[in-house]
Amino acid sequence: MKEFQLIEQFFKNRGQKRRDVILGIGDDCALVQPAEGKVIAISCDTLVEGVHFFADMPAHALGYKSLAVNLSDLAAMGAEPAWMTLALSLPEVDTQWLADFSNGLFEIADYYSVALVGGDTTRGPRCINLTINGQIPKGKSLKRSGAKVGDWIYVTGTLGDSALGLDMLRGVQAVKPEYKEYLLNRHYYPTPRVLAGQALRGLASSAIDLSDGLVSDLSHILKASNVGATINANAIPLSSSLKNSVTAEQALAYALTGGEDYELLFTVPESQRGAIDTALIHSGVKFVNVGQICSGDKVKFTLDGQPFMPEFKGFEHF
Ligand code: ADP
Ligand code: MG
Repeated sequence: MKEFQLIEQFFKNRGQKRRDVILGIGDDCALVQPAEGKVIAISCDTLVEGVHFFADMPAHALGYKSLAVNLSDLAAMGAEPAWMTLALSLPEVDTQWLADFSNGLFEIADYYSVALVGGDTTRGPRCINLTINGQIPKGKSLKRSGAKVGDWIYVTGTLGDSALGLDMLRGVQAVKPEYKEYLLNRHYYPTPRVLAGQALRGLASSAIDLSDGLVSDLSHILKASNVGATINANAIPLSSSLKNSVTAEQALAYALTGGEDYELLFTVPESQRGAIDTALIHSGVKFVNVGQICSGDKVKFTLDGQPFMPEFKGFEHF
C-alpha cells in the first residue's frame, strides 16, 4: 500500500465535517477559519513505542489516547477543541493495526467534534505525533500563572488509577480480577476534562492537567504563580479499585506521584467558591478541594494532621 492510499483509506474524509475547515487533507496546507473574537490554543504530544506505550498496546486504545492526552491540554486552558494534524511514523503498513488505530482516534475525535485536517506519514520506528488546535474567547484562557495566596485547590475525578493500571501491565503489581478492567481502562482510555475546563473560564485563577502526577504538576502552578501550597493527603480522591488493590500508603503514592491521570487541578478564589458547583454540574465529573495556596514556594503535605512526604512514583524522561 502506498502512502497516499493509506491516507485515503484510513484518514481522509473521516470523522467530523466542520464548517470552519476551508480546506482539509489533500493540499500542502490545511486552511481553517477561526471564530471572531477567539484566540487559537495549540498543543502537541508525541507517543513513542517503547517509551510511552508498549508494542502490544491495542491500536484502538493508542489511537484514542493519542488524541485524549492532547485534548487534556486544551481542557487545562479552557479551550474548545477544533482541528488536529497527525504525524505518523510506522515500521510497516499493517492494515488491521491502522484500522483499529484510526477507529480509536475518530471515536474520541467525533465525540468532541475535532476534524483531522492534515498530517504526515513516514516509515520509521512506531511513533505518533498529534497536534491539536482549539479556540478560546480572547482573554478567557486558564493559565498556570494566576494562583493567589488563599485560593482553594481542587482536582477532578480520582487520581492514581492510570499509574496502577500501568504497573499492572508491567507485571510489577498484582491486582484482583474484579478491578483489572477499570484500572486498565483508566490507563488506556483517559477522559480529558474538556467541558470542565471550559466551565472554569472566568472562575478558576489557574489550571493544569495532571499528566506527570500531582506533586510534579502542582509544582508548575506554584512556580508560574510564585506561591506555595498546603495539600491535605486525606482529601485526595481515590477510586475504590485503587483503594482495594494496594495498601493505603501505596494508594497515596500512586495518586500523588503516578502519572497519566489527565484530570484537572485548578485553583479558585474564595469569592468564586460558591459558583463552581453550578458551573461544573454539567461537565459530568466530580471535583474536590484538596488544599489551599499559601505564600512561599513549597508544597506542604499533611496526613491525619501530621506533616507527610509522598513517596515518589513519577516518571521523567531526562
Ligand atoms: P507533503 O508532501 O506536502 O508533505 P503529503 O504527501 O505528506 O504532503 O500529504 C498529502 C496530504 O495528506 C496533506 O494534506 C497532508 O496534510 C495529508 N496527510 C499526510 N499524512 C497524513 C496523516 N497521517 N493523517 C492525516 N493527513 C495526512
Ligand atoms: Mg509530507
